[in-house]
Amino acid sequence: MDLSLIPLNIKGCGLRPFVIAGPCSAETEEQVMSTARQLASLGCNVYRAGVWKPRTKPGGFEGHGEKALPWLKRVKEETGMSVATEVATPEHVELVLEYGIDIIWIGARTSANPFAMQALADSLSGVDIPVLVKNPVNPDLELWIGAMERLNQAGIKRLAAIHRGFSSYDNKIYRNAPMWQIPIELRRRIPELPIICDPSHIGGRRNLIAPLSQQAMDLGFDGLIVETHCSPNEAWSDAAQQVTPDGLYNILSQLTIRDGHI
Ligand code: PEP
Ligand code: MN
Repeated sequence: MDLSLIPLNIKGCGLRPFVIAGPCSAETEEQVMSTARQLASLGCNVYRAGVWKPRTKPGGFEGHGEKALPWLKRVKEETGMSVATEVATPEHVELVLEYGIDIIWIGARTSANPFAMQALADSLSGVDIPVLVKNPVNPDLELWIGAMERLNQAGIKRLAAIHRGFSSYDNKIYRNAPMWQIPIELRRRIPELPIICDPSHIGGRRNLIAPLSQQAMDLGFDGLIVETHCSPNEAWSDAAQQVTPDGLYNILSQLTIRDGHI
């Protein structure tokens, strides 16, 4: 099945790379606002922060939930950036729509689950919002495409894919193996679908963000989503992979953008 798509129409989206930045998790109002103000002053257009956090094991910080949504609304009002967060259930969808969140993304654990995807798609029926779909944790291109098809059949036409790498059991350099051949094949199958690279969750360490971002640019990815925190070492989740806003600016300014598409 072909996807029926229209442009994402998000501010900054025509730029290459299109950049989404912000912390893994919304921790405090101060952390959310301070990171956002710094990113906005560097020209970032789209802010990310997780409000519901899918943690591998219980006991970690699982996000503030609804309490943090007004903070994102404030980011939008005070900085003019668009704001994005992850949704995993129809209840999350209802709340993000209530608080005027501009963009939603679906996480790698959710896109691996067809029942969860169908429930999300049903809850988005008749809603016009850009949806970014992370690849499933396992390297299954059909499952990734299937997740996007479910949303598309529910009427979501502003879709993009996020490549965040794939789980594997062996010792490895990467937190999640990039397996670039999978997004390359996705581009071949659905050429009009924007693909955004998430070097933070692929690398798992901040010194891998620059080389992974360069690889993504060399392969013709449309954009990057980079976890960025005002005090990365103090982050409540994914501390090792987050960069400061200035660190992100340095990484972006050193990228070589060549022509060429995956
Ligand atoms: C995240 O973006 O913080 C996240 C939880 O990502 P993923 O679903 O890719 O693990
Ligand atoms: Mn994260």
